[in-house]
This record gives sequence, structure tokens and C-alpha cells, in this order.
Amino acid sequence: MVGKTKVALVGIGKIAKDQHVPSIATSDEWDLAATVSREGTVEGAPAYTDIDTMLAENPDIGVVSLCLPPVPRYDFAAACLRAGRHVMLEKPPGATLAECYDLGAMAADAGVVLFATWHSRMAKGVQAAKAALTGKTVESGRIDWKENVRQWHPDQDWVFEPGGMGVLDPGINALSILTEVLPNPVHLKSATLHTPSNRQTPIQAELTFTGGITASLDWLKEGQQTWEQRFTTTDGTVVHLLEGGNRCVVDGEEQKVSNLGEYPALYARMTDLVRLGKSSVDLAPMIHVSDIMTLGTRKDAPDFEW
Ligand code: NAP
Repeated sequence: MVGKTKVALVGIGKIAKDQHVPSIATSDEWDLAATVSREGTVEGAPAYTDIDTMLAENPDIGVVSLCLPPVPRYDFAAACLRAGRHVMLEKPPGATLAECYDLGAMAADAGVVLFATWHSRMAKGVQAAKAALTGKTVESGRIDWKENVRQWHPDQDWVFEPGGMGVLDPGINALSILTEVLPNPVHLKSATLHTPSNRQTPIQAELTFTGGITASLDWLKEGQQTWEQRFTTTDGTVVHLLEGGNRCVVDGEEQKVSNLGEYPALYARMTDLVRLGKSSVDLAPMIHVSDIMTLGTRKDAPDFEW
């Protein structure tokens, strides 16, 4: 029997604990063999505070999964690629596009796999929506992505610093689904970025794309959280993704969806990529975010405090 693949997790914070650790623990294919974090640890896994030491002392760990915020992530990714390890990047894949292209080139040079993950693309209903839109022409679409930053990013000041993306941090999840399901590419026409006067990144955003696509992103939504996308095609088909893409309704009919959760699906995909020796670095969602930051009109919003 082939043994489990050893993986190291780097950046033991909210998403590592909420999703990566349980997905690895319940997998038949993965073994959490080390962690690297200044403070965070996972019971049962050898804990390091320095990436170079972990890499040097564990030549048998072939895969490193980086769960750090985007700004500090590049140096860690580069160290792992230089050491000949396959790398998984949390979304967004970097702080800038140039960084991501650089990591892609480094992985190709080193002959290792780089997987820029988009967890929302693995939501259970996304492939059903993609199938329903394939071969059709979308004439309009509406995204409503409204959640509570205090619930999902408690006290994480990095989200409001340059590179943290503000409401585009969850917004890029919506854009990762959009760019997966749309049969034709679209591009940004305008954006309004409501930015707290005491912060660097937006807390609400209104977006208009070509192809009749509009989006409203809100990070101050309390109570029921809303993560929905609805598309209408020229032949009158209506495709509705709900619950972050985990439900898909076409013309009022609930569709059969995948039964694998987002993070188990990401690790299953990484298993396939490593087996195939193939990288997956689709930067389309990040290009939209970059365009939004380039073209967006800033509107002052009230100060934000946790
Ligand atoms: P987080 O808890 O604030 O950060 C993760 C860990 O990274 C921290 O615990 C910290 O560990 C380490 N870290 C933070 N800043 C660092 C720095 N400057 N240098 C070195 N290490 C640093 O963030 P998160 O919510 O887990 O998000 C991490 C990534 O996952 C982001 O890209 C985010 O978009 C993505 N994500 C988050 C969620 C969510 O619900 N929060 C959902 C999906 C995806 P140590 O202090 O122990 O070093």
C-alpha cells in the first residue's frame, strides 16, 4: 500500500485551523508532518518557527501548503520552491500579480507543482452551474457577496492594510466562481470602493463588468450572510448559485451537486496535480481585483474599528 503524502502547513491561524487541519486529518492521502508558524501549533505535528529549518530538517516532506496572509506569503513560497517542494497557495495567490507570475516561473524551473487554490471554485454547486451555462450566452448576471468581517476575520488588521484587499478578500472568492462558470470572459468597466477613512482598503464595493454583470460586495453584513450569483442567458435560462456556490438552482430546479467539501476537494486536486506533475495557476480572479484597485473610485466610509 502506498503511504500518505507528507505535507507541512505554514501560517497556523484561522483558515489553517478551521479548514486545512481538519481536511488533512480526515484524508486517506495526506499526513500533517510539520507546521511552521511563529506562535500557532497543531497537536501531534512537529512545530517549527522558521521555514528554512523545517525544509532543511525534513527532506521527506514533499508538499508545503501556505496559509499565511498574501503579503508575507511570497518569501515562504519562494523558499519552498527553491528547496524543490510542491506548493499550495491559499487564495489570493499573492500580494501582486508579478509575484504570482514569478512563483509560476520558479516552479516550472524547479520542476515542481504550484497550485494557486481557489476554495470557492470547489463549492459543491459550481460545476453544475458551469455545465448549465456551457454553450449559452450570458446576457446579465448579478453577484451579491455580503458577509461580516468581524465574524470571518476577527481582529485581522492585515485585511485593511495594503495588499490585504479589504472586501475584495472575500470578493475574490466570488470572482473565482464567476471566472470559472462564465462561458465568455468579461472585464471591469467601473468600480466604487467605499473605504473607511482610517483604513487603506475598501469595506464595500460596487462593480460593473462587461456582459451585463454587476456585483455588490459588503463586509458589514450582520445576521444572515449572503453569497449568491444569478445569471440569465439569451435563451431565458436562469442559473442561481446560493450559499457560496454550494447550491445550484437552474430554472427553479435544484441541481445535483458534488458531495465533497471545498478544502477536501482542494487537497484531492493537489494529489492529482502532484501525480501528474502539473501546476495550476489561474490568475483570472486576481487580474479582476487588480483592475478594480486600478480603476476604482474611492468613496470615504465611516471609520472602522473591530
Ligand atoms: P490569519 O489567521 O490572520 O493568519 C494566518 C497565520 O499567518 C497567522 O496565524 C500567523 O501565524 C501567520 N502570519 C500572519 N501574518 C504574518 C506575517 N506578517 N509573517 C509571517 N506569518 C504571518 O489569516 P487567515 O484568516 O487564516 O487567512 C490566511 C489566508 O487564508 C488569507 O489569504 C485568506 O484570504 C485566506 N482565507 C481565509 C479565510 C477565513 O475565513 N479567514 C477563508 C478562506 C481563505 P503566526 O503568528 O503563528 O506566525
